[in-house]
Amino acid sequence: MTDTIRLAGVGKTYDGEHGPVRAIRHVSFAVDPGEFVTVVGPSGSGKSTAFRIIAGLETATEGAVEVGDEPVTGPGPDRGMVFQDDALFPWRTVAGNVRYGLEEVGPPPDTTVGGRVDHCLSLVGLADAADQYPRELSGGMRQRAGIARALAVDPPILLMDEPFASVDARTKATLHRELLSIWQETQKTILFVTHDIEEAVYLSDRIVVFSEGPGTVVDVIDGPPDRPRDKTSEAFRETKGAVLSYFEE
Ligand code: ADP
Repeated sequence: MTDTIRLAGVGKTYDGEHGPVRAIRHVSFAVDPGEFVTVVGPSGSGKSTAFRIIAGLETATEGAVEVGDEPVTGPGPDRGMVFQDDALFPWRTVAGNVRYGLEEVGPPPDTTVGGRVDHCLSLVGLADAADQYPRELSGGMRQRAGIARALAVDPPILLMDEPFASVDARTKATLHRELLSIWQETQKTILFVTHDIEEAVYLSDRIVVFSEGPGTVVDVIDGPPDRPRDKTSEAFRETKGAVLSYFEE
């Protein structure tokens, strides 16, 4: 397979206003094709920094990131991105936003731009909202639209940085179920960043635990064996406890 993500000894030191800021150090882990891997860590542990380096939005100052044996040198159509603030274009409809990426690279094989837009909107349950503008949508719908836009060019990898951090708890639970069914249906590789431990345990095959900043990988923990997951199960509680143990005084 071509889309394994590999970080080897990755470090990042920013040129801060008051001198160098070391955000992450010696970060090494891999995400296999089709896996759902979450990076979890406290605020300031460098999760977003690691995410931005994998996305190609930022360059590492040490080590290397490869996707499918190619070094990452910038953003690419192999990695769709979803952020906390959906960053939809306010002047485009939902369908217009999903169409955006396709206008540059064209639709995947065997489909048209229109067909692809419709497919992605139905994947995220927004078929009826195609002609609405972002300002007319709820927070949850905006995040769905952001996911549809990221999926439009059919990237093998989805990179998600705290995508549900600003939606309410009930909407978040719905979005979790929907994301897992999209993942199962599309077989994407997902790298998901969050500070929400329960979210990480609910979603992930494996959880990469970052230390306090400058962040490094302190453990990689397998998610509970069952899917769909039962948050009241012993296995769920144990996994959550194992992650939490790194953040308790
Ligand atoms: P997290 O996502 O875990 O909250 P970040 O990656 O956002 O962590 O930040 C890690 C550290 O790097 C923090 O100390 C933050 O202040 C610093 N940092 C992040 N971006 C920059 C930047 N562009 N310039 C200087 N320092 C930064």
